[in-house]
Amino acid sequence: MAVVNMTEVLARQMWKDPELQKLLPCHCQQCLDDVLAMALNHLPPRYATTDEGQLYVQVEYLRPQLRSDILRELTQAALWVSSHPRHASAESDAAGGDSAPMESEGGSHT
Ligand SMILES: [Zn+2]
Repeated sequence: MAVVNMTEVLARQMWKDPELQKLLPCHCQQCLDDVLAMALNHLPPRYATTDEGQLYVQVEYLRPQLRSDILRELTQAALWVSSHPRHASAESDAAGGDSAPMESEGGSHT
């Protein structure tokens, strides 16, 4: 048994959709992760205890509303990140050190 955030599980699955990733011009890990993190910050977590084998069964029981919420947040996050990539892009517009401590609330280390 494990405690999982079903919102995160579902968001990760949906974010693999190539149609969705088309919104993002840069597919480096940083940008991909940024979109996922931003979307998840805007979505309520839904924790469930589950065996890994039953995870996908439970996902199917989730309300369609959650899927559309996740889709909306992923779309918005992808559009935002595509215009505000965290890493240096073609134009070096760095105004000051970019080693500012990022928000690190909660341990999300895997
Ligand atoms: Zn990138």
